[in-house]
Amino acid sequence: MKKKHLFWLLLPSYWLVTAVAIIVVAYYAYHSMSNLFFQALEKDIFTRATLLSSQVAPWVEQKEYAAIDTLCNELGAAAETRFTIVMPDGKAVGDSDSRPELMEYHGDRPEIRQALGGQIGVDKRYSRTSKQEMMYVAIPLQTANHETLCAVRASLPLTDIQAELNTMTVRVIVVSLITGILSMVVCIVVVRRITDPLRGMGRAARQFAGGDFHHRIPAQHTLELDQLGESLNIMAEQLNKTLSTLSEQRNEQNAVLSSMDEGVLAVDRRERIIHMNRIACEILGVDSKEIKRQLIQQVVRFSNLQEFIKAVLGSQKTLSRDLTLIGDTEKQIQTRGSVLKDAEDKSIGALIVLRDVTHIRHLETVRSDFVANVSHELKTPITSIKGFVETLLSDDWNHEPDILRFLEIINQQSGRLNAIIDDLLTLSRLEQKGGLVMKETAKLAPVIESAIYLCQLQAGKKNIKIDAVCPADLALSINAPLLEQALVNLIINAVKYSDPDKKVLILAEQQAEQVAIYIKDEGFGLERKHLDRLFERFYRVDTARSRKLGGTGLGLSIVKHIISAHEGHIRVESKVGAGSTFIITLPNPNKEASDD
Ligand code: ADP
Repeated sequence: MKKKHLFWLLLPSYWLVTAVAIIVVAYYAYHSMSNLFFQALEKDIFTRATLLSSQVAPWVEQKEYAAIDTLCNELGAAAETRFTIVMPDGKAVGDSDSRPELMEYHGDRPEIRQALGGQIGVDKRYSRTSKQEMMYVAIPLQTANHETLCAVRASLPLTDIQAELNTMTVRVIVVSLITGILSMVVCIVVVRRITDPLRGMGRAARQFAGGDFHHRIPAQHTLELDQLGESLNIMAEQLNKTLSTLSEQRNEQNAVLSSMDEGVLAVDRRERIIHMNRIACEILGVDSKEIKRQLIQQVVRFSNLQEFIKAVLGSQKTLSRDLTLIGDTEKQIQTRGSVLKDAEDKSIGALIVLRDVTHIRHLETVRSDFVANVSHELKTPITSIKGFVETLLSDDWNHEPDILRFLEIINQQSGRLNAIIDDLLTLSRLEQKGGLVMKETAKLAPVIESAIYLCQLQAGKKNIKIDAVCPADLALSINAPLLEQALVNLIINAVKYSDPDKKVLILAEQQAEQVAIYIKDEGFGLERKHLDRLFERFYRVDTARSRKLGGTGLGLSIVKHIISAHEGHIRVESKVGAGSTFIITLPNPNKEASDD
């Protein structure tokens, strides 16, 4: 709908009200004046009729009709009035303007009828006798006992009064028109005095909206408009202050975000970029000027990062993922995404923190390659040394006791070195696969049984009984040889770090969201302070004992790697003297299936 200007809304209504008021006043004035004129005329005619009545009374009583007519003629000529005497039978017996015997029946004239009825009669009408508009006043001439003798009528033409009234009408119209025009001009001035300041305030408000908060609305003539202008000025001042505070805060936040070592990327729920700090732009190879409010897909071309952002927005949870961004150069990025919330704790998007770990990963690869190469290089000589020492220790040689002892030491140490190299090779193989291993759905029970079988010899030496409880149909996505190796490491540890004749129990169960495998022993147990570091490479609680028992300090580290490669977790619960329980949790295959 087209909006009207306030000016054009107010002005017609003001004009209408003024016009109606002027018309009503003019009409009322005209009406009052004409009434006044007619009343005065009526009174004048009545006086003339009364005068005639007093003079004509004796002639009427004596029925001297000629004298009556003569009196009418004389007085009529003198007073410029038409006088008529009408008898009760309606017959005119005297008239100043015509001869009575020629006059028609007059008893039907309204004023005569009333006068013959004993009242004063008044009427205005066109007279055929005088050929003009006349006012008639008739009064009854009565005897002492109120008997009507005749009606005495006086009449005057209305022409003068009509002319007077016409002049008055013209004057009233002219005055009304002048008043109307003046009122219209006054209305325009008044309406302008309302609308002009409002227009000015509208302009000022637009300037405020455009960011010019220094403009001020001047004082106004009316109290209400002045208050409105003052309120707008205060609002502008407050807005200016608030915006300055906000921009200060934004600058501080930008400074903090820019000086961060990590890349920070904030997107709204529709995946539009809210903020991207300098490091994020560098990592993603984006020009910081091009990003404002752009869709992430338009700015960042890495589909794996786009998927990650979608996943964070969809899951509304904190997620972490290692991503490889393949552009001009290949970058390894560690990402962590969490839900971005507003002051009312409502989700408004996602916050992604990016860490460029390309250099770290490169160093890790170099280290892992180095370990693999060194282990590989050491493996051949140590195998050869071990072979020769074992040959020298065989019964075919007759050694001095000291030489035999030294050879046994060399054999034991080279065996240990061999075990360390084997573990190092296993670890580096796991690392080189980037934590990814081939998996297929397999039953868990045979894997546990096979692991127990491999540990039986060592357990048998200490008379330790190994039991297993596992649902026969429990199957999950695993790399069976690797999981078997993890279980072997844990069972061997349980045997190693237990006194003879104890028991080891392996319990597997399917839980709501995962599959849990418990490896429980009745061994020496561990102090709480060791539990967090147990899975580190070469971490041993009691180095001497571990060495004596043939430990490399790498067993649990290998277990942790294998479980991580299965996207699972491992933790330990232990109490000194009461034994330890290692708990592996692996993703529940049934849940995964339902998620897909
Ligand atoms: P190691 O080859 O020395 O056994 P691991 O990485 O397998 O190396 O284990 C690290 C350390 O954790 C061990 O030295 C031992 O002190 C402790 N440990 C491992 N398993 C057990 C267990 N079941 N009971 C008590 N201590 C254990």
